[in-house]
Amino acid sequence: MNTYTVKAFGTQAPEADLKQMHIDRREATAKDVEIDILYCGVCHSDLHTARNEWHGTVYPNVPGHEIVGRVTKVGSGVSKFKVGDLAAVGCMVDSCRECEYCRKGWEQYCEKGNIQTYNGADKHLNRQTFGGYSERIVVDEDFVLRVPGNLDLAATAPLLCAGITTWSPLKHWKAGPGQKVGIVGIGGLGHMGVKLAKAMGAHVVVITTSPSKVEDAKRLGADEVILSKDKAQMKASAGTLHFVLDCVSAQHDVNAYLKLLKTDGTLALVGAPAHPLPIAAFSLIPGRKSFAGSTIGGIAETQEMLDFCGEHNITSDIELIKIQDINKAYERLLKGDVKYRFVIDMASLKV
Ligand code: NAP
Ligand code: ZN
Ligand code: ZN
Repeated sequence: MNTYTVKAFGTQAPEADLKQMHIDRREATAKDVEIDILYCGVCHSDLHTARNEWHGTVYPNVPGHEIVGRVTKVGSGVSKFKVGDLAAVGCMVDSCRECEYCRKGWEQYCEKGNIQTYNGADKHLNRQTFGGYSERIVVDEDFVLRVPGNLDLAATAPLLCAGITTWSPLKHWKAGPGQKVGIVGIGGLGHMGVKLAKAMGAHVVVITTSPSKVEDAKRLGADEVILSKDKAQMKASAGTLHFVLDCVSAQHDVNAYLKLLKTDGTLALVGAPAHPLPIAAFSLIPGRKSFAGSTIGGIAETQEMLDFCGEHNITSDIELIKIQDINKAYERLLKGDVKYRFVIDMASLKV
């Protein structure tokens, strides 16, 4: 297979900083779209993976799965895109396409495992996949998304992971009018969860550890805000929520948030801390409560979310950074010091 070299930013070891490097990309095959990457969001999963916190990272690692850019080349069999179009890529670049779940459009739950945009098994080049902290990416058109033309492009990038990862469970558990929905952890995912749940018509309750986010949460669309470190506030809201979406990246006590659910309520975890989270039996039994999980969303569902955001003018609140500042951004991410998503201006890689 023919390849060419592009600049990228990545890391060689768990404790090493990210640095500029060169990687290879395949020349577009018949079904491929080649994208010049303009912006790439910085997800906490990038940090978990770069530092091998979930184990299984293959080095070098080039993170980035909130990708928007412009099409520079299409293969002879591509029908959805042409050169010059805007295009986006999220957390997956392929799946088996044959299993029960792929056939339903649930490629994220592919029986063989979806192929992740970075640190996945690249079936073309027989190595790990490399993500969006790079000049270009080449992806099968079936896994490339269309970008609504009316949205700010940099602020659209985070929809590709933070947007779909909160959209999918909110839809699955039927967030909407008459539902009280709690969002825990107002980072990249959480702030998108607030905006999307509000736009779906739910009554939105933000649950945060950060006093500095209380007023801001209302601007994002929250109807109520609970400071989770204030025991009296948590107690006053016990048994009031139909659904809780837990977007926390670090170890935390899930039992405290399960108490907020009504009988038959569900707490769905999308946050992915590195270590197990203990659950007390009596956090679930008395109210017939469910503790669940959810990962990203299927391709059709991701397009549906992007189109919804176009119609409702929803984007992420971002802080635009240069790629040379990525290591500093990771340190700030760990402190919860971002309102609410870092996005890399990829022009900084090209200078
Ligand atoms: P982020 O921007 O760093 O946000 C995480 C938020 O969690 C923080 O802003 C903070 O919110 C809260 N938090 C942090 N430490 C906490 C603690 N000790 N106790 C309680 N709350 C705490 O991260 P993100 O990019 O949104 O990602 C969140 C998590 O989701 C990560 O683990 C990521 O890997 C995972 N993820 C999963 C999927 C999936 O498919 N399931 C997809 C993408 C990301 P407050 O200041 O409001 O408390
Ligand atoms: Zn992500
Ligand atoms: Zn499959």
